[in-house]
Amino acid sequence: LFEYAPAPENPAAAGEIAASQGMFVDGEFAPAADGRVFGTLNPATEEQLAEVALGGEADVDRAVRAARAALPSWAALPGAERAKYLFRIARILQERSRELAVLETLDNGKPIRESRDVDLPLVAQHFFYHAGWADKLAYACPGRSPQSDRSGPDPRPVGVCGQIIPWNFPLMMLAWKVAPALACGNTVVLKPAETTPLTALRFAEVCRQAGLPRGVVNIVTGDGGTGAALAGHPDLDKVAFTGSTEVGREIARTLAGTGRRLSLELGGKGANIVFDDAPLDQAIEGIVDGIFFNQGQVCCAGSRLLVQESVEEEVLTALRRRMATLRVGDPLDKNTDVGAVNSAAQLARIEELAAAGEAEGAERWTDAGCELPRQGYWFAPTLFTGVGQSARIVREEVFGPVLAVQTFRTPDEAVQKANNTPYGLSAGVWTSDGARALDVSGRLRAGVVWANTFNRFDAASPFGGFKESGYGREGGRQGLKEYLSV
Ligand code: NAD
Repeated sequence: LFEYAPAPENPAAAGEIAASQGMFVDGEFAPAADGRVFGTLNPATEEQLAEVALGGEADVDRAVRAARAALPSWAALPGAERAKYLFRIARILQERSRELAVLETLDNGKPIRESRDVDLPLVAQHFFYHAGWADKLAYACPGRSPQSDRSGPDPRPVGVCGQIIPWNFPLMMLAWKVAPALACGNTVVLKPAETTPLTALRFAEVCRQAGLPRGVVNIVTGDGGTGAALAGHPDLDKVAFTGSTEVGREIARTLAGTGRRLSLELGGKGANIVFDDAPLDQAIEGIVDGIFFNQGQVCCAGSRLLVQESVEEEVLTALRRRMATLRVGDPLDKNTDVGAVNSAAQLARIEELAAAGEAEGAERWTDAGCELPRQGYWFAPTLFTGVGQSARIVREEVFGPVLAVQTFRTPDEAVQKANNTPYGLSAGVWTSDGARALDVSGRLRAGVVWANTFNRFDAASPFGGFKESGYGREGGRQGLKEYLSV
Protein backbone atom coordinates (compact mmCIF):
# COMPACT_ATOMS: atom_id res chain seq x y z
CA LEU A 1 0.00 0.00 0.00
CA PHE A 2 2.73 2.45 0.96
CA GLU A 3 4.46 2.03 -2.37
CA TYR A 4 1.46 3.60 -4.07
CA ALA A 5 1.05 6.51 -1.67
CA PRO A 6 2.00 9.57 -3.71
CA ALA A 7 4.38 12.13 -2.24
CA PRO A 8 3.07 15.58 -1.32
CA GLU A 9 3.13 18.09 -4.15
CA ASN A 10 6.21 20.29 -4.15
CA PRO A 11 5.27 23.91 -3.30
CA ALA A 12 8.06 25.05 -5.62
CA ALA A 13 5.94 23.78 -8.53
CA ALA A 14 3.93 27.00 -8.11
CA GLY A 15 6.90 28.84 -9.60
CA GLU A 16 8.42 31.89 -8.05
CA ILE A 17 5.93 33.80 -5.90
CA ALA A 18 7.22 37.36 -5.93
CA ALA A 19 7.16 38.83 -2.42
CA SER A 20 5.58 42.00 -3.74
CA GLN A 21 3.05 41.94 -6.59
CA GLY A 22 1.41 44.72 -8.54
CA MET A 23 -1.98 44.78 -10.20
CA PHE A 24 -2.38 44.33 -13.96
CA VAL A 25 -3.62 47.39 -15.83
CA ASP A 26 -3.29 48.13 -19.53
CA GLY A 27 -0.92 45.22 -20.04
CA GLU A 28 1.51 46.18 -17.28
CA PHE A 29 1.97 45.21 -13.65
CA ALA A 30 1.98 48.27 -11.38
CA PRO A 31 1.71 49.20 -7.71
CA ALA A 32 -1.34 51.04 -6.37
CA ALA A 33 -1.34 54.78 -7.10
CA ASP A 34 -1.14 55.48 -3.36
CA GLY A 35 1.29 52.63 -2.71
CA ARG A 36 -1.02 50.69 -0.39
CA VAL A 37 -0.64 46.90 -0.11
CA PHE A 38 -2.22 43.93 1.65
CA GLY A 39 -0.86 40.50 2.55
CA THR A 40 -2.18 37.19 1.27
CA LEU A 41 -1.63 34.11 3.44
CA ASN A 42 -1.40 30.38 3.04
CA PRO A 43 -4.40 29.41 5.21
CA ALA A 44 -2.90 26.00 5.97
CA THR A 45 0.17 27.55 7.62
CA GLU A 46 -0.73 31.22 8.23
CA GLU A 47 2.50 32.17 6.45
CA GLN A 48 2.38 35.21 4.21
CA LEU A 49 2.78 34.27 0.57
CA ALA A 50 3.04 37.78 -0.87
CA GLU A 51 2.23 41.42 -0.48
CA VAL A 52 -0.19 42.61 -3.14
CA ALA A 53 -1.22 46.06 -4.40
CA LEU A 54 -4.39 47.37 -2.75
CA GLY A 55 -6.31 49.13 -5.51
CA GLY A 56 -8.16 52.35 -4.79
CA GLU A 57 -10.47 54.59 -6.80
CA ALA A 58 -7.62 55.97 -8.92
CA ASP A 59 -6.47 52.46 -9.87
CA VAL A 60 -9.98 51.33 -10.70
CA ASP A 61 -10.43 54.41 -12.84
CA ARG A 62 -7.17 53.80 -14.71
CA ALA A 63 -8.21 50.17 -15.35
CA VAL A 64 -11.68 51.13 -16.59
CA ARG A 65 -10.11 53.73 -18.92
CA ALA A 66 -7.72 51.09 -20.27
CA ALA A 67 -10.61 48.68 -20.86
CA ARG A 68 -12.62 51.45 -22.55
CA ALA A 69 -9.72 52.32 -24.84
CA ALA A 70 -9.22 48.67 -25.78
CA LEU A 71 -12.90 48.06 -26.49
CA PRO A 72 -13.38 49.35 -30.07
CA SER A 73 -10.64 47.29 -31.69
CA TRP A 74 -11.36 44.17 -29.59
CA ALA A 75 -15.10 44.36 -30.34
CA ALA A 76 -14.39 44.93 -34.04
CA LEU A 77 -12.20 41.84 -34.41
CA PRO A 78 -13.88 39.07 -36.38
CA GLY A 79 -15.12 36.42 -33.96
CA ALA A 80 -12.73 33.87 -35.43
CA GLU A 81 -9.80 36.13 -34.47
CA ARG A 82 -11.02 36.52 -30.89
CA ALA A 83 -11.43 32.73 -30.81
CA LYS A 84 -7.72 32.32 -31.55
CA TYR A 85 -6.80 34.27 -28.43
CA LEU A 86 -9.21 32.26 -26.31
CA PHE A 87 -7.89 28.97 -27.67
CA ARG A 88 -4.36 30.18 -26.97
CA ILE A 89 -5.25 31.10 -23.40
CA ALA A 90 -6.91 27.70 -22.91
CA ARG A 91 -3.83 25.87 -24.19
CA ILE A 92 -1.46 27.87 -21.98
CA LEU A 93 -3.70 27.21 -18.97
CA GLN A 94 -3.37 23.49 -19.71
CA GLU A 95 0.38 23.72 -20.15
CA ARG A 96 0.75 25.64 -16.88
CA SER A 97 -1.95 23.73 -15.01
CA ARG A 98 0.34 22.11 -12.44
CA GLU A 99 1.88 25.47 -11.55
CA LEU A 100 -1.54 27.12 -11.30
CA ALA A 101 -3.05 24.24 -9.30
CA VAL A 102 -0.27 24.38 -6.71
CA LEU A 103 -0.50 28.17 -6.49
CA GLU A 104 -4.29 27.93 -6.06
CA THR A 105 -3.89 25.39 -3.27
CA LEU A 106 -1.27 27.52 -1.50
CA ASP A 107 -3.40 30.67 -1.59
CA ASN A 108 -6.81 29.06 -1.00
CA GLY A 109 -6.18 25.98 1.16
CA LYS A 110 -8.09 23.55 -1.04
CA PRO A 111 -6.73 20.00 -1.54
CA ILE A 112 -4.36 19.68 -4.49
CA ARG A 113 -6.46 16.75 -5.70
CA GLU A 114 -9.29 19.23 -6.28
CA SER A 115 -7.33 22.13 -7.75
CA ARG A 116 -5.45 19.70 -10.04
CA ASP A 117 -8.32 17.40 -11.06
CA VAL A 118 -11.38 19.64 -10.85
CA ASP A 119 -10.61 23.38 -10.88
CA LEU A 120 -7.87 23.59 -13.51
CA PRO A 121 -9.49 21.22 -16.04
CA LEU A 122 -12.77 23.16 -15.72
CA VAL A 123 -10.94 26.48 -16.09
CA ALA A 124 -9.33 25.37 -19.36
CA GLN A 125 -12.61 23.83 -20.53
CA HIS A 126 -14.37 27.14 -20.00
CA PHE A 127 -11.95 28.93 -22.33
CA PHE A 128 -12.10 26.17 -24.96
CA TYR A 129 -15.90 26.17 -24.85
CA HIS A 130 -16.20 29.94 -25.24
CA ALA A 131 -13.52 30.04 -27.93
CA GLY A 132 -15.90 27.86 -29.90
CA TRP A 133 -18.70 30.40 -29.53
CA ALA A 134 -16.75 33.53 -30.53
CA ASP A 135 -17.52 33.19 -34.24
CA LYS A 136 -21.05 31.82 -33.79
CA LEU A 137 -22.58 34.45 -31.56
CA ALA A 138 -25.58 35.08 -33.79
CA TYR A 139 -26.69 31.53 -33.01
CA ALA A 140 -26.62 32.32 -29.29
CA CYS A 141 -29.65 34.55 -29.86
CA PRO A 142 -33.20 33.28 -30.07
CA GLY A 143 -34.59 33.39 -33.59
CA ARG A 144 -31.32 32.65 -35.29
CA SER A 145 -30.15 29.20 -36.29
CA PRO A 146 -27.78 27.79 -38.89
CA GLN A 147 -30.93 27.13 -40.97
CA SER A 148 -32.08 30.76 -40.86
CA ASP A 149 -28.74 32.35 -41.70
CA ARG A 150 -28.30 36.03 -42.48
CA SER A 151 -31.52 37.38 -41.02
CA GLY A 152 -32.54 37.80 -37.40
CA PRO A 153 -30.89 39.34 -34.37
CA ASP A 154 -27.50 41.00 -34.57
CA PRO A 155 -25.59 40.57 -31.31
CA ARG A 156 -23.11 43.20 -30.09
CA PRO A 157 -20.87 43.23 -27.03
CA VAL A 158 -22.23 44.99 -23.96
CA GLY A 159 -19.00 46.97 -23.53
CA VAL A 160 -16.73 47.40 -20.52
CA CYS A 161 -17.50 44.88 -17.77
CA GLY A 162 -16.59 45.13 -14.09
CA GLN A 163 -16.30 41.66 -12.59
CA ILE A 164 -16.00 40.90 -8.88
CA ILE A 165 -15.32 37.36 -7.68
CA PRO A 166 -15.01 35.43 -4.37
CA TRP A 167 -12.23 33.28 -2.96
CA ASN A 168 -13.70 29.79 -3.03
CA PHE A 169 -12.83 28.98 -6.67
CA PRO A 170 -10.53 31.85 -7.58
CA LEU A 171 -9.49 30.75 -11.07
CA MET A 172 -12.73 29.02 -11.91
CA MET A 173 -14.80 32.10 -11.02
CA LEU A 174 -12.37 34.16 -13.10
CA ALA A 175 -12.85 31.80 -16.05
CA TRP A 176 -16.65 31.89 -15.70
CA LYS A 177 -16.51 35.69 -15.96
CA VAL A 178 -13.64 36.42 -18.34
CA ALA A 179 -14.13 33.70 -21.00
CA PRO A 180 -17.72 34.58 -22.05
CA ALA A 181 -17.02 38.32 -21.81
CA LEU A 182 -14.04 38.10 -24.18
CA ALA A 183 -15.75 35.69 -26.56
CA CYS A 184 -18.56 38.22 -26.97
CA GLY A 185 -16.16 41.11 -27.66
CA ASN A 186 -16.25 42.88 -24.28
CA THR A 187 -13.28 44.12 -22.29
CA VAL A 188 -13.00 43.55 -18.55
CA VAL A 189 -11.76 44.84 -15.23
CA LEU A 190 -11.73 41.96 -12.76
CA LYS A 191 -11.31 42.19 -9.02
CA PRO A 192 -10.29 38.94 -7.30
CA ALA A 193 -11.01 38.35 -3.61
CA GLU A 194 -8.56 39.77 -1.07
CA THR A 195 -7.59 36.36 0.32
CA THR A 196 -6.87 34.75 -3.07
CA PRO A 197 -5.39 37.23 -5.56
CA LEU A 198 -2.39 35.21 -6.72
CA THR A 199 -3.79 33.00 -9.48
CA ALA A 200 -5.63 35.96 -11.04
CA LEU A 201 -2.28 37.77 -11.30
CA ARG A 202 -0.69 34.64 -12.78
CA PHE A 203 -3.59 34.57 -15.24
CA ALA A 204 -2.59 38.09 -16.27
CA GLU A 205 0.79 36.60 -17.25
CA VAL A 206 -1.07 33.98 -19.27
CA CYS A 207 -2.89 36.77 -21.13
CA ARG A 208 0.43 38.41 -21.94
CA GLN A 209 1.87 35.08 -23.05
CA ALA A 210 -1.13 34.62 -25.35
CA GLY A 211 -0.46 38.04 -26.88
CA LEU A 212 -3.85 39.41 -25.82
CA PRO A 213 -4.00 43.11 -26.72
CA ARG A 214 -3.34 45.40 -23.75
CA GLY A 215 -6.35 46.66 -21.86
CA VAL A 216 -8.66 43.80 -22.86
CA VAL A 217 -8.17 42.14 -19.46
CA ASN A 218 -7.27 44.21 -16.39
CA ILE A 219 -6.91 42.77 -12.89
CA VAL A 220 -7.31 45.21 -10.00
CA THR A 221 -6.41 43.57 -6.70
CA GLY A 222 -7.84 44.79 -3.42
CA ASP A 223 -10.56 44.43 -0.80
CA GLY A 224 -14.25 45.21 -0.48
CA GLY A 225 -13.53 48.92 -0.88
CA THR A 226 -11.82 48.23 -4.20
CA GLY A 227 -14.85 46.17 -5.23
CA ALA A 228 -17.22 48.97 -4.25
CA ALA A 229 -15.14 51.47 -6.26
CA LEU A 230 -15.35 49.17 -9.27
CA ALA A 231 -19.09 48.48 -8.96
CA GLY A 232 -19.75 52.20 -8.64
CA HIS A 233 -17.59 53.32 -11.56
CA PRO A 234 -19.76 55.40 -13.90
CA ASP A 235 -18.08 54.29 -17.12
CA LEU A 236 -18.93 50.57 -16.88
CA ASP A 237 -21.59 49.02 -19.09
CA LYS A 238 -22.08 45.96 -16.94
CA VAL A 239 -21.22 44.53 -13.53
CA ALA A 240 -21.00 40.80 -12.86
CA PHE A 241 -20.72 39.79 -9.22
CA THR A 242 -20.26 36.47 -7.45
CA GLY A 243 -20.20 36.52 -3.69
CA SER A 244 -22.42 36.94 -0.68
CA THR A 245 -26.07 37.89 -0.88
CA GLU A 246 -25.47 40.93 1.37
CA VAL A 247 -22.82 42.44 -0.92
CA GLY A 248 -24.92 41.49 -3.96
CA ARG A 249 -27.80 43.54 -2.55
CA GLU A 250 -25.50 46.50 -1.98
CA ILE A 251 -24.23 46.37 -5.56
CA ALA A 252 -27.80 46.10 -6.89
CA ARG A 253 -28.63 49.29 -4.96
CA THR A 254 -25.55 51.04 -6.38
CA LEU A 255 -26.55 50.15 -9.93
CA ALA A 256 -30.27 50.82 -9.59
CA GLY A 257 -31.36 53.48 -12.06
CA THR A 258 -28.01 53.70 -13.85
CA GLY A 259 -29.04 51.60 -16.85
CA ARG A 260 -25.95 49.46 -16.38
CA ARG A 261 -26.48 45.74 -16.62
CA LEU A 262 -25.98 43.46 -13.64
CA SER A 263 -25.74 39.73 -13.03
CA LEU A 264 -25.50 38.26 -9.54
CA GLU A 265 -24.40 34.81 -8.41
CA LEU A 266 -24.99 34.73 -4.67
CA GLY A 267 -25.29 32.31 -1.78
CA GLY A 268 -27.11 29.02 -1.49
CA LYS A 269 -28.47 26.42 0.90
CA GLY A 270 -28.81 23.37 -1.30
CA ALA A 271 -30.92 20.36 -0.28
CA ASN A 272 -29.75 16.85 -1.07
CA ILE A 273 -32.87 14.64 -1.05
CA VAL A 274 -32.34 10.91 -0.51
CA PHE A 275 -35.31 8.59 -1.12
CA ASP A 276 -35.50 5.07 0.33
CA ASP A 277 -35.05 3.50 -3.12
CA ALA A 278 -31.82 5.44 -3.80
CA PRO A 279 -28.59 3.62 -4.69
CA LEU A 280 -27.26 4.21 -1.19
CA ASP A 281 -23.53 3.64 -1.71
CA GLN A 282 -23.61 6.15 -4.54
CA ALA A 283 -25.75 8.54 -2.50
CA ILE A 284 -23.28 8.47 0.42
CA GLU A 285 -20.48 9.47 -1.95
CA GLY A 286 -22.68 12.24 -3.36
CA ILE A 287 -23.61 13.54 0.08
CA VAL A 288 -19.94 13.58 1.16
CA ASP A 289 -18.84 15.26 -2.05
CA GLY A 290 -21.81 17.64 -1.86
CA ILE A 291 -20.81 19.10 1.50
CA PHE A 292 -17.10 18.39 2.04
CA PHE A 293 -15.79 19.28 -1.43
CA ASN A 294 -13.69 22.46 -1.00
CA GLN A 295 -14.39 22.31 2.78
CA GLY A 296 -18.04 23.09 2.04
CA GLN A 297 -17.07 26.57 0.83
CA VAL A 298 -19.21 26.08 -2.24
CA CYS A 299 -22.22 28.22 -3.11
CA CYS A 300 -24.07 25.17 -4.45
CA ALA A 301 -23.02 22.84 -1.59
CA GLY A 302 -25.57 20.24 -0.51
CA SER A 303 -25.58 21.63 3.01
CA ARG A 304 -29.00 20.24 3.95
CA LEU A 305 -29.49 16.50 3.81
CA LEU A 306 -33.15 15.49 3.53
CA VAL A 307 -33.38 11.76 4.06
CA GLN A 308 -36.51 9.62 3.89
CA GLU A 309 -37.43 8.48 7.39
CA SER A 310 -37.38 4.74 6.60
CA VAL A 311 -33.66 4.83 5.66
CA GLU A 312 -32.48 7.50 8.09
CA GLU A 313 -30.52 5.18 10.39
CA GLU A 314 -28.99 3.25 7.52
CA VAL A 315 -27.89 6.45 5.76
CA LEU A 316 -26.52 8.08 8.89
CA THR A 317 -24.54 4.99 9.91
CA ALA A 318 -22.98 4.70 6.47
CA LEU A 319 -22.36 8.45 6.35
CA ARG A 320 -20.54 8.52 9.71
CA ARG A 321 -18.46 5.54 8.65
CA ARG A 322 -17.51 7.31 5.39
CA MET A 323 -16.79 10.60 7.16
CA ALA A 324 -14.37 8.77 9.46
CA THR A 325 -12.26 7.89 6.40
CA LEU A 326 -11.88 11.50 5.22
CA ARG A 327 -8.30 12.70 5.50
CA VAL A 328 -8.08 16.25 6.79
CA GLY A 329 -4.72 17.99 6.57
CA ASP A 330 -1.92 19.30 4.35
CA PRO A 331 -3.64 20.55 1.18
CA LEU A 332 -0.53 19.74 -0.87
CA ASP A 333 -0.71 16.06 0.13
CA LYS A 334 -2.28 14.19 -2.77
CA ASN A 335 -4.15 11.94 -0.31
CA THR A 336 -5.90 14.83 1.44
CA ASP A 337 -9.68 14.99 1.12
CA VAL A 338 -10.39 18.07 3.24
CA GLY A 339 -8.02 21.03 3.31
CA ALA A 340 -7.85 24.31 5.22
CA VAL A 341 -10.65 26.84 5.59
CA ASN A 342 -9.78 29.91 3.54
CA SER A 343 -9.39 32.54 6.27
CA ALA A 344 -9.59 33.24 9.98
CA ALA A 345 -12.78 35.23 9.36
CA GLN A 346 -14.42 32.34 7.53
CA LEU A 347 -13.37 29.92 10.26
CA ALA A 348 -14.88 32.20 12.90
CA ARG A 349 -18.15 32.29 10.96
CA ILE A 350 -18.28 28.49 10.68
CA GLU A 351 -17.51 28.11 14.40
CA GLU A 352 -20.18 30.61 15.32
CA LEU A 353 -22.88 28.85 13.28
CA ALA A 354 -21.85 25.41 14.55
CA ALA A 355 -22.10 26.69 18.13
CA ALA A 356 -25.56 28.07 17.30
CA GLY A 357 -26.53 24.60 16.02
CA GLU A 358 -25.69 23.07 19.38
CA ALA A 359 -27.31 25.90 21.33
CA GLU A 360 -30.50 25.38 19.35
CA GLY A 361 -30.62 21.73 20.42
CA ALA A 362 -29.24 19.81 17.44
CA GLU A 363 -26.86 16.91 18.02
CA ARG A 364 -23.33 17.56 16.76
CA TRP A 365 -21.09 14.75 15.52
CA THR A 366 -17.52 14.67 14.26
CA ASP A 367 -15.29 11.63 13.95
CA ALA A 368 -13.42 11.20 17.23
CA GLY A 369 -10.27 10.22 15.32
CA CYS A 370 -10.13 13.44 13.28
CA GLU A 371 -7.04 15.40 14.29
CA LEU A 372 -6.62 18.94 13.02
CA PRO A 373 -3.25 20.57 12.41
CA ARG A 374 -2.23 23.13 15.07
CA GLN A 375 -1.26 25.91 12.68
CA GLY A 376 -3.69 27.28 10.11
CA TYR A 377 -7.49 27.43 9.81
CA TRP A 378 -9.19 24.08 10.17
CA PHE A 379 -12.65 22.72 10.82
CA ALA A 380 -13.50 19.01 11.08
CA PRO A 381 -16.25 17.56 8.86
CA THR A 382 -19.35 17.91 11.02
CA LEU A 383 -22.82 16.42 11.06
CA PHE A 384 -25.87 17.85 12.82
CA THR A 385 -28.91 15.64 13.41
CA GLY A 386 -32.20 16.42 15.09
CA VAL A 387 -32.27 19.83 13.44
CA GLY A 388 -35.49 21.87 13.46
CA GLN A 389 -36.60 23.89 10.46
CA SER A 390 -36.10 27.16 12.31
CA ALA A 391 -32.47 26.42 13.29
CA ARG A 392 -29.89 28.82 11.92
CA ILE A 393 -27.81 25.96 10.47
CA VAL A 394 -30.81 25.07 8.31
CA ARG A 395 -31.68 28.61 7.27
CA GLU A 396 -28.27 30.28 6.91
CA GLU A 397 -25.42 29.49 4.59
CA VAL A 398 -22.54 28.15 6.71
CA PHE A 399 -20.05 27.97 3.82
CA GLY A 400 -18.11 25.31 5.68
CA PRO A 401 -17.95 21.51 6.16
CA VAL A 402 -21.17 21.35 8.17
CA LEU A 403 -24.12 19.18 7.16
CA ALA A 404 -27.59 19.61 8.70
CA VAL A 405 -29.77 16.49 8.50
CA GLN A 406 -33.56 16.49 8.40
CA THR A 407 -36.04 13.77 7.51
CA PHE A 408 -39.20 13.54 5.41
CA ARG A 409 -41.91 10.95 4.73
CA THR A 410 -43.40 11.80 1.33
CA PRO A 411 -42.09 13.37 -1.89
CA ASP A 412 -44.36 16.37 -1.27
CA GLU A 413 -42.84 16.92 2.15
CA ALA A 414 -39.34 16.63 0.67
CA VAL A 415 -40.12 19.25 -1.96
CA GLN A 416 -41.77 21.54 0.58
CA LYS A 417 -38.75 21.35 2.94
CA ALA A 418 -36.20 21.69 0.16
CA ASN A 419 -37.92 24.83 -1.13
CA ASN A 420 -38.32 26.30 2.35
CA THR A 421 -35.31 28.62 2.03
CA PRO A 422 -34.74 32.12 0.71
CA TYR A 423 -32.05 30.68 -1.58
CA GLY A 424 -32.49 28.73 -4.81
CA LEU A 425 -29.17 27.74 -6.30
CA SER A 426 -28.82 23.95 -6.20
CA ALA A 427 -30.44 20.71 -5.12
CA GLY A 428 -29.90 16.97 -5.49
CA VAL A 429 -32.31 14.05 -5.82
CA TRP A 430 -31.33 10.44 -5.16
CA THR A 431 -33.74 7.71 -6.29
CA SER A 432 -33.82 4.68 -8.57
CA ASP A 433 -37.21 5.77 -9.89
CA GLY A 434 -36.65 7.89 -13.00
CA ALA A 435 -40.19 9.27 -13.01
CA ARG A 436 -39.79 10.42 -9.42
CA ALA A 437 -36.42 12.05 -10.20
CA LEU A 438 -38.05 14.06 -12.99
CA ASP A 439 -41.16 14.92 -10.98
CA VAL A 440 -39.26 16.08 -7.88
CA SER A 441 -36.52 17.95 -9.73
CA GLY A 442 -39.17 19.80 -11.73
CA ARG A 443 -40.75 21.07 -8.52
CA LEU A 444 -37.54 22.26 -6.88
CA ARG A 445 -36.96 26.02 -7.03
CA ALA A 446 -33.24 25.81 -7.76
CA GLY A 447 -31.15 26.84 -10.75
CA VAL A 448 -29.33 23.51 -10.83
CA VAL A 449 -30.75 20.13 -9.84
CA TRP A 450 -28.57 17.04 -9.95
CA ALA A 451 -30.07 13.54 -10.03
CA ASN A 452 -28.00 10.69 -8.56
CA THR A 453 -24.89 12.87 -8.60
CA PHE A 454 -23.81 16.19 -7.11
CA ASN A 455 -21.43 19.09 -7.76
CA ARG A 456 -20.97 18.30 -11.44
CA PHE A 457 -20.11 21.25 -13.67
CA ASP A 458 -19.86 21.71 -17.40
CA ALA A 459 -19.12 24.85 -19.41
CA ALA A 460 -22.09 24.03 -21.68
CA SER A 461 -24.52 23.94 -18.77
CA PRO A 462 -25.88 27.26 -17.49
CA PHE A 463 -25.35 27.87 -13.78
CA GLY A 464 -27.17 30.37 -11.61
CA GLY A 465 -29.86 30.92 -9.05
CA PHE A 466 -33.47 31.60 -8.21
CA LYS A 467 -34.68 33.90 -5.43
CA GLU A 468 -31.92 35.32 -3.18
CA SER A 469 -29.28 33.25 -4.97
CA GLY A 470 -29.27 35.94 -7.64
CA TYR A 471 -30.05 36.28 -11.32
CA GLY A 472 -28.29 35.73 -14.61
CA ARG A 473 -26.61 32.55 -15.78
CA GLU A 474 -22.99 31.58 -16.37
CA GLY A 475 -22.08 28.94 -18.92
CA GLY A 476 -23.92 27.58 -21.91
CA ARG A 477 -25.79 29.57 -24.49
CA GLN A 478 -27.80 31.31 -21.76
CA GLY A 479 -24.59 32.60 -20.18
CA LEU A 480 -23.59 34.36 -23.40
CA LYS A 481 -26.70 36.51 -23.26
CA GLU A 482 -25.29 38.24 -20.18
CA TYR A 483 -22.49 39.61 -22.34
CA LEU A 484 -24.40 40.49 -25.51
CA SER A 485 -26.75 43.25 -26.55
CA VAL A 486 -29.06 42.21 -29.35
P1 NAD B 1 -18.15 38.59 -0.37
O1 NAD B 1 -19.44 39.04 -0.93
O2 NAD B 1 -17.73 39.09 0.94
O3 NAD B 1 -16.94 38.93 -1.36
C1 NAD B 1 -16.99 38.62 -2.71
C2 NAD B 1 -16.19 39.66 -3.47
O4 NAD B 1 -16.81 40.92 -3.34
C3 NAD B 1 -14.76 39.85 -2.98
O5 NAD B 1 -13.93 40.08 -4.09
C4 NAD B 1 -14.85 41.09 -2.12
O6 NAD B 1 -13.66 41.81 -2.02
C5 NAD B 1 -15.88 41.90 -2.87
N1 NAD B 1 -16.61 42.87 -2.05
C6 NAD B 1 -16.78 42.88 -0.70
N2 NAD B 1 -17.52 43.95 -0.34
C7 NAD B 1 -17.84 44.61 -1.47
C8 NAD B 1 -18.61 45.77 -1.76
N3 NAD B 1 -19.21 46.46 -0.81
N4 NAD B 1 -18.76 46.15 -3.05
C9 NAD B 1 -18.17 45.44 -4.04
N5 NAD B 1 -17.42 44.35 -3.83
C10 NAD B 1 -17.27 43.92 -2.57
O7 NAD B 1 -18.26 37.02 -0.41
P2 NAD B 1 -17.16 35.97 0.03
O8 NAD B 1 -17.30 35.76 1.49
O9 NAD B 1 -15.85 36.30 -0.52
O10 NAD B 1 -17.69 34.68 -0.78
C11 NAD B 1 -18.56 33.81 -0.24
C12 NAD B 1 -19.94 34.01 -0.82
O11 NAD B 1 -19.94 33.90 -2.24
C13 NAD B 1 -20.90 32.97 -0.35
O12 NAD B 1 -22.09 33.55 0.07
C14 NAD B 1 -21.13 32.10 -1.58
O13 NAD B 1 -22.34 31.43 -1.60
C15 NAD B 1 -21.00 33.07 -2.67
N6 NAD B 1 -20.66 32.40 -3.93
C16 NAD B 1 -21.61 32.27 -4.88
C17 NAD B 1 -21.34 31.62 -6.07
C18 NAD B 1 -22.40 31.49 -7.13
O14 NAD B 1 -22.06 31.16 -8.26
N7 NAD B 1 -23.65 31.73 -6.82
C19 NAD B 1 -20.07 31.11 -6.29
C20 NAD B 1 -19.11 31.24 -5.31
C21 NAD B 1 -19.42 31.90 -4.13
